[in-house]
Amino acid sequence: MDQATRLEVRKRAGNRCEYCRLRQEDEKENPFHVEHIIAQQHGGLDAVGNLALACSWCNAIKGPNLASLDPDSGLLTRLYHPRKDSWVEHFRRDGAFIFGLTDVGRTTAWLLRFNDTDNINQRLILDELGELD
Ligand SMILES: [Zn+2]
Repeated sequence: MDQATRLEVRKRAGNRCEYCRLRQEDEKENPFHVEHIIAQQHGGLDAVGNLALACSWCNAIKGPNLASLDPDSGLLTRLYHPRKDSWVEHFRRDGAFIFGLTDVGRTTAWLLRFNDTDNINQRLILDELGELD
């Protein structure tokens, strides 16, 4: 993957994680990653349509996962796809919490642990600073 592709992905994402919506400027010490939505081990390509910007947390936890079990139904459910899905259709932020609105949203929020204590505390601080949007 060349530097121009990385820059294109970062610009398209508005320099924020396409999963949890954290902004790179609020996580300066941990550069965000250009990740493969469909991992290369599953046949995913380096094409921009298969790439997303992800914070270190989301990137590390997602890894090559494509699906998990919906915490409500227990059914195998695909993960949120930043190129094909709309964030606001699948998630809603309420204060420092990010809730899944659909099976895809619930499964992704659960697997990527959007509401772990550290993430909630970080969003609470950003909210106090008026930097959470
Ligand atoms: Zn993230």
